[in-house]
Amino acid sequence: MMRVSGTDLKTFVKSAAEQAGFDLAGIAPARDAQELEYFPEWIAAGRAGDMKYLEARDEKGDLKRASLARVAPWARSVIVCAINYNTAHPYSTELNDPERGWISRYAWSREDYHDAVLRRLKKVEAAFREVLPEVQQANLTTRSYVDTGPIVERVFAKYAGVGWIGKNTCIISQKKGSWLFLGVILTSLELAPDLPTPDRCGTCTRCIEACPTNAIVAPYQLDSNRCISYLTIEKRASIPEEFRAGMGRHIFGCDICQDVCPWNRKAPVTNAIEFEPRPGMVNPALAWLAEMPAEDFRETFRGSPVRRTKRAGLRRNAAIAMGNSANAEFLPLLQTMADDEDEAVAESARWSITRLRS
Ligand code: SF4
Ligand code: SF4
Repeated sequence: MMRVSGTDLKTFVKSAAEQAGFDLAGIAPARDAQELEYFPEWIAAGRAGDMKYLEARDEKGDLKRASLARVAPWARSVIVCAINYNTAHPYSTELNDPERGWISRYAWSREDYHDAVLRRLKKVEAAFREVLPEVQQANLTTRSYVDTGPIVERVFAKYAGVGWIGKNTCIISQKKGSWLFLGVILTSLELAPDLPTPDRCGTCTRCIEACPTNAIVAPYQLDSNRCISYLTIEKRASIPEEFRAGMGRHIFGCDICQDVCPWNRKAPVTNAIEFEPRPGMVNPALAWLAEMPAEDFRETFRGSPVRRTKRAGLRRNAAIAMGNSANAEFLPLLQTMADDEDEAVAESARWSITRLRS
């Protein structure tokens, strides 16, 4: 059996990531980067909204995500892998059909991206475990995460050389753009780290200017409470009125700050077929979503991130999008929804009726 160590091991890990289907991979040191210093401030300012999982604390009351040493003191390196999920379909900023809404590009895929990315991470883990000398194998600790880990993945992605953190707070690769799913492997292996990616946003401010709800409150700073992604997916009950007009036709997530980014102008298309869209996901008909029976919702979105907003959340968002459509043909449907048993759906429909009539 092949045995590798030292710099060969780092090369081996990267080639295992490539073989598993990742487009980019790098190694970050397992130390707390300067960006994480702002995380407690960001939480204290209420910028995470209702996303309480970001506020998970250890027994001393310290935020877990603010320090890797706190949650994985054994970790010596962080392997960060990224896979492109872009498919050959238009950007939200290129389409404007008043009968249709927008589901964020990452949520179109046939297979839930958590599963698709984790499966690949496990292959990488297994590959490098196998080539380690037996003693090292016995002492090796690894943990693979896709979104669910107690760490801020994009900070480690920057230090692993995968991409820089843009002013829109997304990881951007010079070659691949920002349509990237990230996966991380924390490991007790000491691997030589890569260099951090330099910031290439320069003087550009397109994402800040294009954001319809002014959620990028300063370069590199996102207020989740204002972000359409948060409002349409995480926010329960009614959406604050001040943001409804800005939501436009978004019914699950928002891609605008990535659609306008010059680094996505020529973003390549993925090789991973599981990220091809399910039927109906690209620019979906608003009436279809608003009238979707519970059984169809379960069937259409089985294993899809869209389930996170639940059927009521999706219908609430569709009601608001209809109100923003300037399309009076939605009025009869909205009138039915105004008596819906779900109060957020009913109240959003009433708001939309008033908006369409005015
Ligand atoms: S996802 Fe949409 S709402 Fe959120 S910051 Fe980007 S452009 Fe603004
Ligand atoms: S739009 Fe411009 S400022 Fe915003 S992330 Fe892209 S390059 Fe950076």
